[in-house]
Amino acid sequence: MSLPYRLLAVLVLSVAFVAAPGCDEPPTASADTPPKPKEQAPLVTVHVFDKNGKLVGPVKMPAVRLSVEEWKKKLDDESFRILRRAGTEPAHCGDLLDNKREGVYACKGCSLPLFSSDAKFKSGTGWPSFFQPVADVNIEERADNSYGMVRTEILCARCEGHLGHVFTDGPRPTGLRYCLNSASMVFTDADKVKTLADPFLEKKAKQPEAPKRAEVVFAGGCFWCVEAVFEELEGVYEAISGYAGGAEETATYGQVVTGFTKHAEAVKIVYDPSKITYKELLAVHFATHDPTTLNRQGADRGTHYRSAIFYANEEERKAAAAFIAEHQKKLGPDRKIVTTLEPLDPLVGFYKAEDKHQDFAAENPNQPYVRAVAKPKVEKVRKDFKDKLKKPAKDGDK
Ligand SMILES: [Zn+2]
Repeated sequence: MSLPYRLLAVLVLSVAFVAAPGCDEPPTASADTPPKPKEQAPLVTVHVFDKNGKLVGPVKMPAVRLSVEEWKKKLDDESFRILRRAGTEPAHCGDLLDNKREGVYACKGCSLPLFSSDAKFKSGTGWPSFFQPVADVNIEERADNSYGMVRTEILCARCEGHLGHVFTDGPRPTGLRYCLNSASMVFTDADKVKTLADPFLEKKAKQPEAPKRAEVVFAGGCFWCVEAVFEELEGVYEAISGYAGGAEETATYGQVVTGFTKHAEAVKIVYDPSKITYKELLAVHFATHDPTTLNRQGADRGTHYRSAIFYANEEERKAAAAFIAEHQKKLGPDRKIVTTLEPLDPLVGFYKAEDKHQDFAAENPNQPYVRAVAKPKVEKVRKDFKDKLKKPAKDGDK
């Protein structure tokens, strides 16, 4: 065949395809995606049915990616040819073309809901036609310039199965005509949509929630003691000795003990608020230090031994103020609480103390100060907050 004749043949073929009605297109091998390992499936955002038969979303979930062999196993030959090989079924032949029942049309490859009977209309093209999907995000659109035509291919957003094409000659309200292959979809009657409940939602609901984390900073004298007290509590991930209320440059033990840095020896408590609440932490703090002695705890004197609550936000400030007001009533008018409420912000934050001060009481149980001051506090928390402890306190422990 000489070149002009070949060109003519291509032209004639192109015209034949363009002239074909609706979504009549020849099969191609372009739509099949190469198999990817399942763990690399990207996330897609779609709408799915829950167990009550309600369409919910947007929900982020992994895309469905199977190998060619797996798709062949899952699908009948005709559905494989259409969904995975971008094929087209003959016009007027699909079993869903004249389906007038109320219900939902879902992807045959992955069961993602695609269209509702509410949006189905008689287009006269010979293929099931809809003017809109159940959710725009459930349908992926791709330019399709094959066979000399400019068309928009539609695919399932979760498994990338080829569904058909979308055209702009549809009825109101959208003016769109989604032209589908029956073999790419499964129909479910309206009273049975609960059976389309997406297993991913169930799986997600069963997943334990990520552990919660919150932080508070309390001061109440020597940080060795305060830290030792809070380490005892269930729900406390860690208690860290440090300095709060002053500048970062002076947050060293040597400078803080001079009393001129504005710092207080403080403890940052990192905890799970679903296991122990802020108010419960306050209760432990006020039970294990003396909030009525100004700039002093026992024999320890100086502003760096002051009783203080460092609050990170207004909610904490209010909760601490309310707790103090309540606690004041219990102590009576003669024992005035002098605990300060001080803001903890990015400029005046909490600075972790030197390593030798971390876990000091636990590491040095026989140190005279620890025996005299920290031990009684730990014993008190074990006695008074039995139900809040990490493990039951044993007699003679420590
Ligand atoms: Zn699908």
